[in-house]
Amino acid sequence: MSSSDRSVIIVGAGIIGLTTAFRLARRGYRVTILDPAPAMGATHAAAGMLAPSGEIAPGDEENYRYQQGALSAWRAVAHELAELTGHELSITQTGTLIVGWDGGDRRLIEQFRGVAEHFGAPLRTVTRDEEPEMFRGITTRLREGLFMSEDAWLDPDAAVAQLLEANQCLSVRLIEERVTEVLARTNGVPVRSASGVTEADWGIVATGAAGLPPGLREPSSAHVRPVRGVTVRARGIDRHDAPTVRAFLRGRAFYMVSRPGGYCVLGATAEEKAEPLVEVGELQRLLRDGLDIVPELEAATFLEVRNGLRPATADLRPFVAEIPGAGWTWTSGHYRHGVTVAPLAALDALEALDRR
Ligand SMILES: Cc1cc2nc3c(=O)[nH]c(=O)nc-3n(C[C@H](O)[C@H](O)[C@H](O)COP(=O)(O)OP(=O)(O)OC[C@H]3O[C@@H](n4cnc5c(N)ncnc54)[C@H](O)[C@@H]3O)c2cc1C
Repeated sequence: MSSSDRSVIIVGAGIIGLTTAFRLARRGYRVTILDPAPAMGATHAAAGMLAPSGEIAPGDEENYRYQQGALSAWRAVAHELAELTGHELSITQTGTLIVGWDGGDRRLIEQFRGVAEHFGAPLRTVTRDEEPEMFRGITTRLREGLFMSEDAWLDPDAAVAQLLEANQCLSVRLIEERVTEVLARTNGVPVRSASGVTEADWGIVATGAAGLPPGLREPSSAHVRPVRGVTVRARGIDRHDAPTVRAFLRGRAFYMVSRPGGYCVLGATAEEKAEPLVEVGELQRLLRDGLDIVPELEAATFLEVRNGLRPATADLRPFVAEIPGAGWTWTSGHYRHGVTVAPLAALDALEALDRR
């Protein structure tokens, strides 16, 4: 059977479902995607950092290497999107500047540096005296930092808008309904939603932290749990041509991504909680950290708070798993890096489907 003879249902239109739909439709699969609120899950909260270096974690070189491939994969997707929609998806490689608030935080940076050097990540120490532009807007208390040049960012809202438009050009059918049940069948993958039953040859679940819809059983190899995160959006500080700021302060992590026109995303909290809401204390800590690191935020205009549930696995790595005895593949566990690795996850899902 060639790809064009094969139909696929994708459950979930977050960044993973949308890029997967795009990749499959480009390959010639006939794709239907179901989601009651496309791209309003974790994708909506994401800051859009493509930061393999800034996200380095001890013992996780494999994840770092995987994420390193993401920037060129996104550039390839951006090129394909522009061909279809006529708009450029901008990907900005500013690097990341990491600063530490006090002695304890600076020790955390030294530990981070040791791991990053071991992985061979490009980095150098920078000082405010030598490179004042890098420190623009950052409290004068901080005079030194670690610059990681390979990191970049994109605007997830723009990426989603372009993927939705491109998918429409590729005749991907979008049904804005929740899948309430996956029906048992030996051939094909029927799913029930409010308007009835939709069928296809194969199915992909891309529901992020929501896990499998009713009717599918988790394979023993895969499980996700939600880790809630909050980002704050404000306008007033334009650092879009300067590195993304990351800070360790009082043992916590803070970042600020800045886009043209002074649009800033401050992030992010991490709570092992499943309720999609914003706690006052959580928001207060994030704002206080932001004001300490970037005092000019005092006069910035507050725009909104977004929250999302990151899909986390026990080892914090993503997976593509087959559901035994069914025509379903499950892709999830992208945790803090779903936007970064979305084009790679889409290729992994395509390979899994091609193998079937
Ligand atoms: C605060 C925060 C900041 C982040 N910042 C970054 C960042 O800077 N860079 C980065 O790379 N990553 C970041 N992430 C991580 C990233 O957002 C996630 O890894 C990514 O969005 C996961 O994408 P997803 O498509 O799997 O899940 P989601 O975006 O959650 O999408 C899942 C979709 O499935 C739908 N769904 C669920 N159940 C059903 C059902 N039964 N039927 C139909 N549809 C269903 C939902 O409506 C939703 O739209 C951040 C996350 C958070 C929370």
